[in-house]
Amino acid sequence: VFNFAAGPATLPENVLKKAQSELYVYQNSGMSVMEMSHRGKEFTAIIQKAEADLRELLAVPENYSVLFLQGGATTQFAAIPLNICAPDDSADFIVTGSWGDKAYKEASKYCKPNLIWSGKSEKYTKIPAFGELKQNVGAKYLHICANETIHGVEFKDYPEVGNEGGVLVADMSSNFCSKKVDVSKFGIIYAGAQKNVGPSGVTIVIIRKDLIGKAQGSTPVMLDYKIHDENNSLYNTPPCYGIYMCGLVFEDLLAQGGLGEVEKKNVKKAGILYDAIDGSKGFYRCPVEKSVRSLMNVPFTLEKSELEAEFIKEAAKEKMVQLKGHRSVGGMRASIYNAMPLAGVEKLVAFMKDFQARHG
Ligand code: PLP
Repeated sequence: VFNFAAGPATLPENVLKKAQSELYVYQNSGMSVMEMSHRGKEFTAIIQKAEADLRELLAVPENYSVLFLQGGATTQFAAIPLNICAPDDSADFIVTGSWGDKAYKEASKYCKPNLIWSGKSEKYTKIPAFGELKQNVGAKYLHICANETIHGVEFKDYPEVGNEGGVLVADMSSNFCSKKVDVSKFGIIYAGAQKNVGPSGVTIVIIRKDLIGKAQGSTPVMLDYKIHDENNSLYNTPPCYGIYMCGLVFEDLLAQGGLGEVEKKNVKKAGILYDAIDGSKGFYRCPVEKSVRSLMNVPFTLEKSELEAEFIKEAAKEKMVQLKGHRSVGGMRASIYNAMPLAGVEKLVAFMKDFQARHG
């Protein structure tokens, strides 16, 4: 089956096979990773290697901490203002889709967020010109969702933060490790693992160290970055098996030649899919402005919308599943994360052409 789900999503076959071979007994430990103490030497080695490999992949600078947390990216919508704002501090939000909107709304419980740009009136199909943005003096952070999973809108470069002391914060849940990123441009990068780098249950936070240690007094211990940083993500029992799986994915991405190579593959996959949509003479349409179309999540509709259910049904019969668009936007969406092979996208494109020939 080719699984086009938005997350949890397809994982590399070789990674799953390696995990399978180690499922019952991990190396010479005599037990499964699921059974190990998180403080034992085997798991210590697993989490340290996962961190080292992620640091290599993203060239994470020394002055940044890498945290393996729980609670999903959604928990970070609250953790970020709690950690880097006082209740009266402001933060700026650029909202280019539903996830950024959720982050903005959650932040309003813990700081004073300003919505400085929203794409809602244009159905979240655009990213603003950075020159037109009016950032607020004193805003502690400027928040973006680097890739909007539902709407298929992706930042191709990033705005500069106008405020001294303010930092750029990005939700990279759905394009994490899909391409090279200059981590030093960001104060915080966060991502749920379950799209590109592992199973659900692990949330990765990459944070500049000087931002740690300023949490509001009421911050729950589990949301305080200082606690997790001081304890190397082992303050309480972490999602051990998920971290192990992420580690296997990081190894695989390095073996592929790193994120530069991974990005080339992603550009190629997305390219053939968008070309098929744009070349269909309007039979298929992608509403997103061309320059900001996502390499990861490709939403599209049929001109004859009454055929959409049939499209999804026939595709599933051909073993291409989870192509239904998010319930809030309808249509179709093909999520083509790192682990989606080129063959999966080629098969989808061939099916789209055939479907058009029969129904066009
Ligand atoms: N941010 C983005 C961009 C997402 O795609 C998602 C989930 O799909 C989330 C946040 C929420 O993540 P989680 O379910 O890990 O809380």
